Amino acid sequence: MSNNAICCPHCQGQNVQLLSVIHAAGTTRIQATHQTNSSYGPVTIETTGRHQTDLAASVGPPPGKRLLGPVIMTGVGIIILYDGLKLINTYWGVDWTRFFIGATLATIGVIGFVRHWKFNVAQYDKLEEWRRTWLCHACATRFQP
Ligand SMILES: [Zn+2]
Repeated sequence: MSNNAICCPHCQGQNVQLLSVIHAAGTTRIQATHQTNSSYGPVTIETTGRHQTDLAASVGPPPGKRLLGPVIMTGVGIIILYDGLKLINTYWGVDWTRFFIGATLATIGVIGFVRHWKFNVAQYDKLEEWRRTWLCHACATRFQP
């Protein structure tokens, strides 16, 4: 056994791999083209997807939250809010229904964004740890050398 080889601390086996490597190796993109006959003539259906082995799925990175949803919500809220402020022939020139709907959406959007952001910052440490973690294929021990 060479000195610089990484081996399992549990069974001393050398059949070990980084979680990120297992994850990447077990995840493949699928693209399938399928031709079928409809009443309008031949139609080509293209299917794209992701295939993952059970092992690759079990060693996936810690999940982060998407920031796009809250951003869109804030944007839509601001548009409705702006739209409500444009009307001149109502009380104080403001459509209060739109004003409140817009303000509520924008507020929920901003709060959601901050929450997701904080969650992702907290996940970052776990992600760094995941990048350093190895898995032993013989006894399934996870370890950091
Ligand atoms: Zn082992």
